[in-house]
Amino acid sequence: MPNHSIAFPPRVSLAQLPTPMHRLDRISRRMGVEIFIKRDDLTGMELSGNKIRKLEFVLARAREKGCDTVITCGGAQSNHARATAVAAARLGLKSLLFLRTDDPQNPPPVSGNILLDRMVGAQIEWITPDAYRDRDSLMAEAADSLMGRNQNAYVIPEGASDAVGAWGYVHAFEELARDIAALGPGKNDSTTIIHATGSGGTCAGLLIGAALLDSDHRVATVNVCDDRDYFTEVIGGICNRFFEHYPEQPPENLMDRLEIVDGYVGRGYGLSRPEELELICRIAREEGIFPDPVYTGKAFYGMMKELEKDPRRFGERIVFIHTGGLFGLFPKSEDIAAVLSRI
Ligand SMILES: *Cc1c(COP(=O)(O)O)cnc(C)c1O
Repeated sequence: MPNHSIAFPPRVSLAQLPTPMHRLDRISRRMGVEIFIKRDDLTGMELSGNKIRKLEFVLARAREKGCDTVITCGGAQSNHARATAVAAARLGLKSLLFLRTDDPQNPPPVSGNILLDRMVGAQIEWITPDAYRDRDSLMAEAADSLMGRNQNAYVIPEGASDAVGAWGYVHAFEELARDIAALGPGKNDSTTIIHATGSGGTCAGLLIGAALLDSDHRVATVNVCDDRDYFTEVIGGICNRFFEHYPEQPPENLMDRLEIVDGYVGRGYGLSRPEELELICRIAREEGIFPDPVYTGKAFYGMMKELEKDPRRFGERIVFIHTGGLFGLFPKSEDIAAVLSRI
């Protein structure tokens, strides 16, 4: 691995790091390509998933600013909102969550992530998808109104996907580069790192990490909502803001490294097709691993479809990042049970 060293900003240690990485033996054999899995679903139990890596840096910033409350937002079953609420409880902070639902008068049942949000005492404000479009101003107003009551709130954007949160996956990229180096020389030293994108911060962090370490590894991402153009802009924007606060110039052609695998949004964000749920169940049987329905299941499905068309699509070696989301399986238990009776 090249001998670059990155100067990281302050970080609160909350995740169980480093996470393990291991080979998916049966799927690799079946697909004829080496596929490893980076277990970021094991960053913790209640804190599990990719969001806690970003929150380690974001909450360090909130603490520096002397905040007593954190405010964030997400879908009803948001993994990010849950990780934020739990991490806040760990640090003795209050949390306020703006969660999206079609009918705020009839919020979804208290299950999965919502149950955990409630149990750690998060205050939940249910808002319509329309109101959610103005989430940033809603959260800013809430912070102002707390200020009037002598509380000091820190606003974390959707997915903690900003220039501070991106540090979490710069840090993770360094870890991944070490994991990959420890595999020894492969058929080809370059490895493709594949993961799901929902708000872009994970992907931006990986891209920046790859560039700062001058790594040969490719970064490919499967978007689970919107499309390639949208995420090229969102991820590019996070990278630009990152380098506004970074002492060095952005690496040239940073965005050329980005590969967005579009075409696997399916029925839309948070909605599953039977074939996606089927793949999740097959992976559980074959490898004892549980992809989630909203992110990793769709990304894995996209990766498998691409490999069926061309087994060398991502080169000789793949590392798939399992970014978590286990609690999202439970609210879909009926749909999953229906699939189980067929396969
Ligand atoms: C949020 C999330 C992602 C997507 O990460 P972004 O940084 O928001 O793009 C992927 N997987 C899971 C399980 C998530 O909760």
